[in-house]
Amino acid sequence: HVRTSAQIRRSGGGSGGGASVLVTGAAGFVGFHVSLALRKRGDGVVGLDNFNSYYDPSLKRARRDLLAKSGVFVVDGDVNDARLLAKLFDVVAFTHVMHFAAQAGVRYAIENPASYVHSNVAGLVTLLEACKSADPQPAIVWASSSSVYGLNDKVPFSESDKTDRPASLYAATKKAGEAITHSYNHIYGLSITGLRFFTVYGPWGRPDMAYFSFTRNILQGKPITVYRGKDKRDLARDFTYIDDIVKGCVASLDTAGRSTGSGGKKRGAAPYRIFNLGNTSPVTVPELVGILERHLKVKAKKNVVEMPGNGDVPFTHANVSRARAQLGYKPATDLDAGLKRFVKWYLSYYGYNRKTGM
Ligand code: NAD
Repeated sequence: HVRTSAQIRRSGGGSGGGASVLVTGAAGFVGFHVSLALRKRGDGVVGLDNFNSYYDPSLKRARRDLLAKSGVFVVDGDVNDARLLAKLFDVVAFTHVMHFAAQAGVRYAIENPASYVHSNVAGLVTLLEACKSADPQPAIVWASSSSVYGLNDKVPFSESDKTDRPASLYAATKKAGEAITHSYNHIYGLSITGLRFFTVYGPWGRPDMAYFSFTRNILQGKPITVYRGKDKRDLARDFTYIDDIVKGCVASLDTAGRSTGSGGKKRGAAPYRIFNLGNTSPVTVPELVGILERHLKVKAKKNVVEMPGNGDVPFTHANVSRARAQLGYKPATDLDAGLKRFVKWYLSYYGYNRKTGM
């Protein structure tokens, strides 16, 4: 315990004057990249992740090992563990919490609805309680999702659009998260920034996402299932490259302002912000497959089937003018360039040999 505390203190310290950040979900795709970026510029970063087996935990451990090399210690624990959180805030005076830990994915909610409530609702409240009681109170930046727009058909999606028709339990828990964080901002003066990410992809990505599993199947000569809308229209997503998302996250942290606490006349003065972080140019799933085929130099075996109605929405499309104005956010990588980098990483990480197919 003593050794762990020393590691946490060292990891959270940073190199003088920078932010001191607790990153939840640090062994996950986005948390990993954001932790590296913060560490690189000298911020103190402590990670927290429960290394659950929603997808291959060995990928999470590989990310953790890389983080360790750059001086970021990732604590193995759950955001629902109030005692652990209290201990972390006791050891390090975090200025910010970047909250990425969540049960992600829309389809898995059919199988395991409780995991969404556990991580995305109860876990969020446990974390906010810890932030409320911490001294100093950190500013919070957390991952909401484009899925809150649900069946909204007014495109592109703007932050002021209605979010009253979630299409999945995942979306419903993210919408709940926006409401929950708002209440903590109002009552306890916590500075809150919610980021609605649009389909994030890139190196070290998530194996459960289509671009990743398509890549695996195409290379192994296995068929891929491509969903199409009931009206025979192709699904489209506003795929956003991880480096653009990281820039948006870091800019959010830098502009987050302070938590003001619940006492005195400053009550309620802490900012509550919501931003879309997307790419602004949706691509259809068949187009995505075409780009992958080109970069992999292998033809896909496609099974096109009607979307089974298990939580997916037909399309997403971000309007990012608010993030551009307030965060200086400007997506810079298109899908073709981003997938090229993803494929390069995939081939090197999994050691795929085109000749042997292994
Ligand atoms: P991810 O699954 O790779 O990362 C989440 C990490 O959190 C995982 O490593 C997991 O082990 C950890 N975790 C889950 N529940 C936990 C708990 N209760 N306690 C501690 N750790 C826990 O997912 P990601 O793609 O990196 O997503 C990060 C965040 O962004 C999530 O909140 C997700 O909902 C949101 N988001 C992602 C996308 C995307 O396209 N990747 C889009 C919209 C929103």
